[in-house]
Amino acid sequence: MRAAVYQAFTEPLSLEDVPEPAPADHGAVIRVRATGLCRSDWHGWMGHDPDITPPHVPGHEFAGEIAALGKHVPGWRLGERVTVPFVCACGVCPQCQSGNHQVCESQTQPGFTYWGSFAEYVAIDHAAVNLVRLPEELDEVTAASLGCRFATSFRAVVDQAKVRPGEWVAVHGCGGVGLSAIMIADALGARVVAVDITREKLALAQSVGASAVVHDTGNVDVVETVIQITGGGAHVSIDALGSPWTCFNSVANLRRRGRHVQVGLMLADHRHAAIPMDMVVARELRLMGSHGMQAHRYAALLAMIRSGALRPQRLVGKTISLEQSLEALVTMGSFGGAGVTVIDRF
Ligand SMILES: [Zn+2]
Ligand SMILES: [Zn+2]
Repeated sequence: MRAAVYQAFTEPLSLEDVPEPAPADHGAVIRVRATGLCRSDWHGWMGHDPDITPPHVPGHEFAGEIAALGKHVPGWRLGERVTVPFVCACGVCPQCQSGNHQVCESQTQPGFTYWGSFAEYVAIDHAAVNLVRLPEELDEVTAASLGCRFATSFRAVVDQAKVRPGEWVAVHGCGGVGLSAIMIADALGARVVAVDITREKLALAQSVGASAVVHDTGNVDVVETVIQITGGGAHVSIDALGSPWTCFNSVANLRRRGRHVQVGLMLADHRHAAIPMDMVVARELRLMGSHGMQAHRYAALLAMIRSGALRPQRLVGKTISLEQSLEALVTMGSFGGAGVTVIDRF
């Protein structure tokens, strides 16, 4: 099969002919019809992810159909259209037993802990725990865009922050995660203030539901501006980018008893970013992380898509071929382009 491979961190990718994966007894192989390009893939390629050992095939947000099933995968048929969470859970550890598959102690992640979906086929483990059936009306490109950023934002906004109607939600960074969070918070009846360094992304943020925007030009006091717009600070604030600056601002622009959710990854030199802990104490702020979403919570997300309350297809910026992804991945560090890019030609 064809796959996009890098032989070493930061080295150019190339299209290679590699063996097709075979399913484990509890696993499945999926014929990839669409797979998203994500900043985490770029982080992986840069060498920021300790799970990755080159040569490597990136890609973790995909949709397609079941091409092969292991012996022990009850309830699934070949040819069914599916997606999976990027955190594939074991189904049996204490976290999985408590329903928190997104922090499974024995998780596997295609595109990180083993070869991913920038390829014609990708394998997943513990298929019965991780497969999510796609409703007929959801196309593969849109479904691929759910797998990581949209689902992650759904959990962050709905399950972690528990955003309520009328609350102010600040979203720092308007890439895929941020735009998803804006759309979801708006659908819940919250008012959203979006922060970004580019006008293009802020325009997109407004088109998917932001009521106010802050253009961070470097000369703007982001924290003060958000506090003014929200009449005293956001109830909920999300660092959707993952940087010491957006993290700090997201905590500092909260009102008393506000909730910060860290969704953007903190990697490499950013792992131990400064947090205004004095404010956390004095204002009784709550800080939460959010890491993917369990397969069993997709039903709630898919129901909101079917009702039209959420339109993730609006976040898809463009579709490209596997060949074009070789170049597109390596330029992701520059923050160029708006919306989510999805590979849909292999
Ligand atoms: Zn587990
Ligand atoms: Zn991703």
